[in-house]
Amino acid sequence: MTDVAAAPIGGAPGDRHQIPPSIVVDGVRAAYGRIEVLHGVDLVVPPASVFALLGPNGAGKSTLLKVISGRMRPSSGQVLVGDKAIGKRPTEKLARSGLCAVPEGRGIFPNLTVRENLSIWTYRGGLNLRDVEERTFEAFPRLKERRRQMAGTLSGGEQQMLAISRALVTEPSVLLLDELSMGLAPLIVAELYELVGNLARRGMTILLVEQFVTTAVAVATRAAIMVHGRIEQEGTPQEMADAALSVYLA
Ligand code: ATP
Repeated sequence: MTDVAAAPIGGAPGDRHQIPPSIVVDGVRAAYGRIEVLHGVDLVVPPASVFALLGPNGAGKSTLLKVISGRMRPSSGQVLVGDKAIGKRPTEKLARSGLCAVPEGRGIFPNLTVRENLSIWTYRGGLNLRDVEERTFEAFPRLKERRRQMAGTLSGGEQQMLAISRALVTEPSVLLLDELSMGLAPLIVAELYELVGNLARRGMTILLVEQFVTTAVAVATRAAIMVHGRIEQEGTPQEMADAALSVYLA
C-alpha cells in the first residue's frame, strides 16, 4: 500500500491534469466501546461531486465522517480516498495529503484569535499569513473586522466561516463537512453553502452531512440516507429529499 503522506491525494482542485479522488467506503463497521454504531456501511462518493449524507439523529453520520477522516478506527472494512487506504492514519498526515474535515462543532481553536487560527492554516505549507488572510477576508469580510477577537467569542455563523476558511485556503482535494448549518440563521447557511458550491465547481470532492434536507439538496449532486448505522437508500438529491420525509416521519 502506498504511503498516504508521501503523495497528495488526487490533485489540487483546479489542477486539470489530475483526477480528483473519489471516496470509497467498503463494509465499514465501527463501535464506541462495545456498542457498534456502524453496521457495515458501503458508500461511493464520485470524484468532484457534492454528496449529501442525510439521516435522522443518531444514525451514525458523524461517526462515518470520523472514520473517513481517520479520527476513528473502523473495527472492520476500509475507506479509500482515491487509491489510498485511510482509517489507520493520523489526521495530521491526512491533512497534509489533501483531506480536510470540518467537524460538527466547527474544529476551530476557541482560545486563539481569528488571526491566530488563520496562522495555523498556514502550516499546510507554501502559504503565508498574508495570503491566507487575503483569501479569507475576501470571502468573509466580517472576519476581517473580528481578526483580533477570540474565536470562541464569535457568533455561530462567524465561527463556521472561520472553520470553512480552512478549506478555502488550504484547497484540499477532499472536504468533509459535518452539519455546517447547525444553529445558524438561514441567510448565513445560504451564504456558506454558496461557497461550498463554488469549491465543488473548482473540482473538490465534498461529502457533507446535513440535517436540513432542503439545504443539502440545493447544493448536492448525489445523496444517500443513513438509518441505524446503514445506508438505506441512495439516489439523486431530489429522490432522497422525498424519501427522507418518509424515513424521518416514519
Ligand atoms: P446527529 O445527526 O444527531 O449528529 P449522527 O447521525 O451524526 O447524529 P452519530 O453522532 O454518529 O450520529 O452517533 C451515532 C450513535 O453513536 C448514537 O447512538 C450516539 O449516541 C453514539 N455516539 C456518538 N458519539 C459517541 C461517543 N463519543 N461515545 C459513545 N457513543 C457515541
